[in-house]
Amino acid sequence: MSEQRPSAGPEIEVRGLHKSFGDNEVLRGIDLEIGQGEVVCVIGPSGSGKSTLLRCVNLLEEPTKGQVFVGGTELTDPDVDIDAVRRRIGMVFQQFNLFPHLTVTENLTLPQRRVLRRDKAAAAKVAAENLERVGLSEKADAYPASLSGGQQQRVAIARSLSMGPEVMLFDEPTSALDPELVGDVLAVMRMLADEGMTMIVVTHEMTFAREVADRVVFMDGGVIVEDGSPGQVIGAPRHERTRHFLSRLL
Ligand code: ADP
Ligand code: MG
Repeated sequence: MSEQRPSAGPEIEVRGLHKSFGDNEVLRGIDLEIGQGEVVCVIGPSGSGKSTLLRCVNLLEEPTKGQVFVGGTELTDPDVDIDAVRRRIGMVFQQFNLFPHLTVTENLTLPQRRVLRRDKAAAAKVAAENLERVGLSEKADAYPASLSGGQQQRVAIARSLSMGPEVMLFDEPTSALDPELVGDVLAVMRMLADEGMTMIVVTHEMTFAREVADRVVFMDGGVIVEDGSPGQVIGAPRHERTRHFLSRLL
Protein backbone atom coordinates (compact mmCIF):
# COMPACT_ATOMS: atom_id res chain seq x y z
CA MET A 1 0.00 0.00 0.00
CA SER A 2 1.19 3.47 -0.87
CA GLU A 3 1.78 5.95 1.89
CA GLN A 4 2.65 9.62 1.93
CA ARG A 5 4.27 10.80 5.11
CA PRO A 6 4.60 14.34 6.45
CA SER A 7 7.90 16.01 5.59
CA ALA A 8 8.66 16.41 9.31
CA GLY A 9 9.41 12.67 9.41
CA PRO A 10 12.79 11.06 8.75
CA GLU A 11 14.54 11.89 5.48
CA ILE A 12 15.25 8.21 4.89
CA GLU A 13 13.21 5.41 6.41
CA VAL A 14 13.67 1.70 5.85
CA ARG A 15 11.02 -0.61 7.32
CA GLY A 16 11.17 -4.37 7.51
CA LEU A 17 13.48 -4.59 4.51
CA HIS A 18 14.29 -8.05 3.19
CA LYS A 19 16.29 -8.88 0.09
CA SER A 20 17.01 -12.32 -1.29
CA PHE A 21 18.99 -13.38 -4.33
CA GLY A 22 17.50 -16.79 -5.08
CA ASP A 23 17.82 -18.80 -1.86
CA ASN A 24 20.35 -16.38 -0.42
CA GLU A 25 18.62 -14.05 2.03
CA VAL A 26 21.04 -11.13 2.13
CA LEU A 27 18.94 -8.62 4.09
CA ARG A 28 16.89 -10.17 6.89
CA GLY A 29 14.72 -7.39 8.21
CA ILE A 30 16.37 -3.97 8.29
CA ASP A 31 14.75 -1.05 10.11
CA LEU A 32 16.52 2.29 9.87
CA GLU A 33 15.48 5.93 10.24
CA ILE A 34 17.75 8.77 9.22
CA GLY A 35 16.85 12.37 9.98
CA GLN A 36 17.41 15.30 7.69
CA GLY A 37 21.07 16.36 7.81
CA GLU A 38 22.09 13.23 9.66
CA VAL A 39 25.27 11.36 8.68
CA VAL A 40 25.14 7.60 9.27
CA CYS A 41 28.17 5.40 8.71
CA VAL A 42 27.49 1.73 8.01
CA ILE A 43 30.23 -0.70 8.95
CA GLY A 44 30.44 -4.46 8.91
CA PRO A 45 32.24 -7.43 7.41
CA SER A 46 32.36 -8.17 3.70
CA GLY A 47 29.18 -9.89 2.56
CA SER A 48 27.06 -8.57 5.43
CA GLY A 49 24.70 -6.77 3.02
CA LYS A 50 25.94 -3.16 3.23
CA SER A 51 26.01 -2.56 -0.54
CA THR A 52 22.68 -4.32 -0.99
CA LEU A 53 21.13 -2.06 1.66
CA LEU A 54 22.36 1.08 -0.15
CA ARG A 55 21.21 -0.31 -3.49
CA CYS A 56 17.75 -0.98 -2.04
CA VAL A 57 17.58 2.60 -0.70
CA ASN A 58 17.67 3.94 -4.26
CA LEU A 59 15.99 0.90 -5.79
CA LEU A 60 18.97 -0.21 -7.85
CA GLU A 61 17.85 -3.48 -6.25
CA GLU A 62 14.20 -4.25 -5.73
CA PRO A 63 13.46 -5.23 -2.12
CA THR A 64 11.91 -8.66 -1.66
CA LYS A 65 9.84 -7.31 1.22
CA GLY A 66 9.54 -4.08 3.19
CA GLN A 67 9.32 -0.37 2.51
CA VAL A 68 11.75 2.43 1.72
CA PHE A 69 10.82 6.11 2.09
CA VAL A 70 12.92 9.08 0.99
CA GLY A 71 11.69 12.56 1.87
CA GLY A 72 8.30 11.10 2.75
CA THR A 73 7.81 9.41 -0.64
CA GLU A 74 7.51 5.64 -0.63
CA LEU A 75 9.96 4.33 -3.23
CA THR A 76 8.60 0.83 -2.89
CA ASP A 77 5.14 2.01 -3.98
CA PRO A 78 4.63 0.30 -7.36
CA ASP A 79 3.04 3.50 -8.73
CA VAL A 80 5.93 5.80 -7.83
CA ASP A 81 7.90 7.52 -10.63
CA ILE A 82 11.16 5.86 -9.73
CA ASP A 83 13.27 7.98 -12.08
CA ALA A 84 11.95 11.14 -10.46
CA VAL A 85 12.68 9.81 -6.99
CA ARG A 86 16.11 8.50 -7.92
CA ARG A 87 17.14 11.99 -9.04
CA ARG A 88 16.81 13.07 -5.43
CA ILE A 89 19.34 10.45 -4.33
CA GLY A 90 23.03 10.75 -5.21
CA MET A 91 25.18 7.63 -5.17
CA VAL A 92 28.96 7.36 -5.16
CA PHE A 93 30.60 3.97 -5.66
CA GLN A 94 34.02 2.53 -4.99
CA GLN A 95 34.63 2.66 -8.75
CA PHE A 96 34.21 6.18 -10.06
CA ASN A 97 32.53 5.24 -13.38
CA LEU A 98 33.51 8.42 -15.20
CA PHE A 99 33.21 8.47 -18.99
CA PRO A 100 36.83 8.20 -20.19
CA HIS A 101 36.19 9.90 -23.53
CA LEU A 102 34.60 12.98 -21.94
CA THR A 103 36.30 15.86 -20.14
CA VAL A 104 35.62 16.47 -16.47
CA THR A 105 33.13 19.23 -17.30
CA GLU A 106 31.41 17.06 -19.90
CA ASN A 107 31.12 14.26 -17.35
CA LEU A 108 29.29 16.73 -15.08
CA THR A 109 27.07 18.33 -17.72
CA LEU A 110 25.92 15.21 -19.60
CA PRO A 111 23.63 13.77 -16.91
CA GLN A 112 22.23 17.22 -16.11
CA ARG A 113 21.32 17.72 -19.76
CA ARG A 114 19.99 14.23 -20.36
CA VAL A 115 18.14 13.66 -17.12
CA LEU A 116 17.28 17.16 -15.89
CA ARG A 117 16.98 18.71 -19.39
CA ARG A 118 19.15 21.66 -18.38
CA ASP A 119 20.48 23.75 -21.26
CA LYS A 120 24.18 23.81 -21.95
CA ALA A 121 24.92 27.10 -20.18
CA ALA A 122 22.93 26.21 -17.06
CA ALA A 123 24.57 22.78 -16.84
CA ALA A 124 28.04 24.28 -17.29
CA LYS A 125 27.39 26.79 -14.52
CA VAL A 126 26.30 24.09 -12.08
CA ALA A 127 29.28 21.94 -13.11
CA ALA A 128 31.72 24.79 -12.45
CA GLU A 129 30.19 25.48 -9.03
CA ASN A 130 30.49 21.86 -8.00
CA LEU A 131 34.02 21.43 -9.32
CA GLU A 132 34.96 24.40 -7.18
CA ARG A 133 33.32 22.78 -4.14
CA VAL A 134 35.50 19.69 -4.53
CA GLY A 135 38.60 21.79 -5.26
CA LEU A 136 39.09 20.75 -8.88
CA SER A 137 38.25 23.88 -10.91
CA GLU A 138 41.61 23.68 -12.65
CA LYS A 139 40.79 20.20 -13.99
CA ALA A 140 37.61 21.27 -15.82
CA ASP A 141 39.00 20.45 -19.26
CA ALA A 142 41.10 17.44 -18.27
CA TYR A 143 40.23 13.85 -19.16
CA PRO A 144 39.68 11.34 -16.31
CA ALA A 145 42.75 9.26 -17.19
CA SER A 146 45.01 12.23 -16.43
CA LEU A 147 43.64 12.50 -12.87
CA SER A 148 44.61 10.60 -9.75
CA GLY A 149 42.09 8.17 -8.28
CA GLY A 150 41.30 10.65 -5.53
CA GLN A 151 40.68 13.41 -8.05
CA GLN A 152 38.48 11.10 -10.13
CA GLN A 153 36.41 10.25 -7.07
CA ARG A 154 36.01 13.97 -6.26
CA VAL A 155 34.81 14.48 -9.85
CA ALA A 156 32.33 11.63 -9.35
CA ILE A 157 31.06 13.35 -6.18
CA ALA A 158 30.79 16.69 -8.04
CA ARG A 159 28.87 14.94 -10.82
CA SER A 160 26.44 13.55 -8.28
CA LEU A 161 26.06 16.95 -6.55
CA SER A 162 25.35 18.60 -9.90
CA MET A 163 22.05 16.72 -9.98
CA GLY A 164 20.98 18.51 -6.79
CA PRO A 165 20.36 15.44 -4.60
CA GLU A 166 18.57 15.62 -1.24
CA VAL A 167 20.53 12.67 0.11
CA MET A 168 23.88 11.13 -0.77
CA LEU A 169 24.79 7.45 -0.52
CA PHE A 170 28.46 6.49 -0.49
CA ASP A 171 29.55 2.87 -0.94
CA GLU A 172 33.16 2.51 0.20
CA PRO A 173 34.16 5.66 -1.71
CA THR A 174 37.81 5.48 -0.64
CA SER A 175 38.41 1.72 -0.75
CA ALA A 176 39.95 1.73 -4.24
CA LEU A 177 42.31 4.63 -3.48
CA ASP A 178 45.97 4.68 -2.56
CA PRO A 179 46.20 5.65 1.12
CA GLU A 180 47.70 9.08 0.42
CA LEU A 181 44.67 10.00 -1.73
CA VAL A 182 41.99 9.05 0.79
CA GLY A 183 42.19 12.25 2.84
CA ASP A 184 41.12 14.63 0.06
CA VAL A 185 38.00 12.57 -0.67
CA LEU A 186 37.09 12.33 3.01
CA ALA A 187 37.59 16.11 3.30
CA VAL A 188 34.97 16.68 0.58
CA MET A 189 32.57 14.32 2.37
CA ARG A 190 33.20 16.12 5.64
CA MET A 191 32.37 19.43 3.92
CA LEU A 192 29.07 17.97 2.69
CA ALA A 193 28.27 16.72 6.17
CA ASP A 194 29.00 20.18 7.60
CA GLU A 195 26.71 21.71 4.99
CA GLY A 196 23.86 19.56 6.29
CA MET A 197 23.64 16.89 3.58
CA THR A 198 21.82 13.73 4.66
CA MET A 199 24.30 10.92 4.05
CA ILE A 200 24.70 7.16 4.40
CA VAL A 201 28.36 6.20 4.15
CA VAL A 202 29.53 2.60 3.97
CA THR A 203 33.15 2.81 5.03
CA HIS A 204 36.04 1.18 6.83
CA GLU A 205 37.47 4.60 7.74
CA MET A 206 36.91 4.53 11.48
CA THR A 207 38.46 7.95 12.05
CA PHE A 208 35.98 9.46 9.62
CA ALA A 209 33.14 7.54 11.26
CA ARG A 210 34.18 8.72 14.73
CA GLU A 211 34.64 12.35 13.73
CA VAL A 212 31.89 12.92 11.16
CA ALA A 213 29.07 10.42 11.73
CA ASP A 214 26.13 11.25 13.92
CA ARG A 215 25.44 7.53 14.12
CA VAL A 216 27.26 4.32 13.32
CA VAL A 217 25.37 1.20 12.26
CA PHE A 218 27.10 -2.17 12.49
CA MET A 219 25.70 -4.84 10.15
CA ASP A 220 26.44 -8.54 10.16
CA GLY A 221 24.63 -11.37 8.39
CA GLY A 222 21.99 -9.12 6.87
CA VAL A 223 20.81 -7.54 10.11
CA ILE A 224 21.67 -4.41 12.07
CA VAL A 225 23.47 -5.67 15.13
CA GLU A 226 24.17 -2.30 16.68
CA ASP A 227 23.06 1.30 15.98
CA GLY A 228 24.23 4.21 18.08
CA SER A 229 26.62 7.11 18.44
CA PRO A 230 30.21 6.59 17.19
CA GLY A 231 31.40 6.76 20.78
CA GLN A 232 29.08 3.93 21.71
CA VAL A 233 29.32 1.61 18.68
CA ILE A 234 33.04 2.08 17.98
CA GLY A 235 34.20 3.17 21.42
CA ALA A 236 32.15 0.85 23.62
CA PRO A 237 30.46 -1.82 21.48
CA ARG A 238 27.81 -3.82 23.30
CA HIS A 239 27.91 -6.90 21.10
CA GLU A 240 30.63 -9.48 20.75
CA ARG A 241 30.25 -9.50 16.94
CA THR A 242 30.91 -5.75 16.83
CA ARG A 243 33.95 -6.09 19.09
CA HIS A 244 35.32 -8.91 16.96
CA PHE A 245 34.86 -6.90 13.74
CA LEU A 246 36.49 -3.79 15.19
CA SER A 247 39.42 -5.73 16.65
CA ARG A 248 40.29 -7.05 13.20
CA LEU A 249 40.41 -3.52 11.76
CA LEU A 250 43.15 -2.41 14.13
P1 ADP B 1 28.79 -6.07 1.50
O1 ADP B 1 28.61 -4.81 0.72
O2 ADP B 1 28.48 -5.92 2.97
O3 ADP B 1 30.13 -6.69 1.29
P2 ADP B 1 26.86 -7.15 -0.34
O4 ADP B 1 25.58 -6.43 -0.10
O5 ADP B 1 27.66 -6.73 -1.53
O6 ADP B 1 27.72 -7.13 0.99
O7 ADP B 1 26.58 -8.70 -0.54
C1 ADP B 1 25.90 -9.48 0.40
C2 ADP B 1 25.61 -10.82 -0.20
O8 ADP B 1 24.73 -10.66 -1.30
C3 ADP B 1 26.82 -11.54 -0.73
O9 ADP B 1 26.69 -12.88 -0.37
C4 ADP B 1 26.70 -11.38 -2.23
O10 ADP B 1 27.27 -12.47 -2.90
C5 ADP B 1 25.22 -11.32 -2.44
N1 ADP B 1 24.84 -10.52 -3.61
C6 ADP B 1 24.99 -9.19 -3.74
N2 ADP B 1 24.53 -8.75 -4.92
C7 ADP B 1 24.09 -9.86 -5.59
C8 ADP B 1 23.49 -10.08 -6.87
N3 ADP B 1 23.25 -9.06 -7.71
N4 ADP B 1 23.18 -11.34 -7.20
C9 ADP B 1 23.38 -12.36 -6.35
N5 ADP B 1 23.94 -12.22 -5.13
C10 ADP B 1 24.29 -10.99 -4.75
MG1 MG C 1 29.87 -3.72 -0.44
